[in-house]
Amino acid sequence: MRRYEEPYYGKRYLYDIEKKTLHDLVNEKPECQIDSIDKELIDMYSSLNEAALLLDHPFYYPCPHCMKKDE
Ligand SMILES: [Zn+2]
Repeated sequence: MRRYEEPYYGKRYLYDIEKKTLHDLVNEKPECQIDSIDKELIDMYSSLNEAALLLDHPFYYPCPHCMKKDE
């Protein structure tokens, strides 16, 4: 579920800086435990092809719960 307040800003992809894991909030599952991630350790992106994402985090672990192959 997307969150529109700070620090999420309604963007779809959430990068957990500490765990180097990327989550898709549109397909968020309880196992993602998004709300337990420290808000100081989050980067948000609108798309997987966003240049900022590739520059900031050229490598990431796709979350096994919410990151599917389709879309
Ligand atoms: Zn996830």
